Amino acid sequence: MRIVVDPDLCQGHGVCQDEAPAVFTVPKRGTVQITDPTPGDAQRHAVEAAIRYCPTRALSIADDESSAKGTD
Ligand code: SF4
Repeated sequence: MRIVVDPDLCQGHGVCQDEAPAVFTVPKRGTVQITDPTPGDAQRHAVEAAIRYCPTRALSIADDESSAKGTD
């Protein structure tokens, strides 16, 4: 999976960092930085929670069809 962020929507609330600290870093001022833009399936649960709870819906997953299978 690949994570997509819309920087225009992100308001730096940091919810995503709370849910998936291995993937998202949110500075005190500013918007989210994705430390791991293509995390493995082990992170999927946390990433999905981050996406669900992001108050501005700035995050989404883009599943890359060609690499979605057999990457384990
Ligand atoms: S939870 Fe959403 S708005 Fe908050 S820092 Fe993460 S991406 Fe930005």
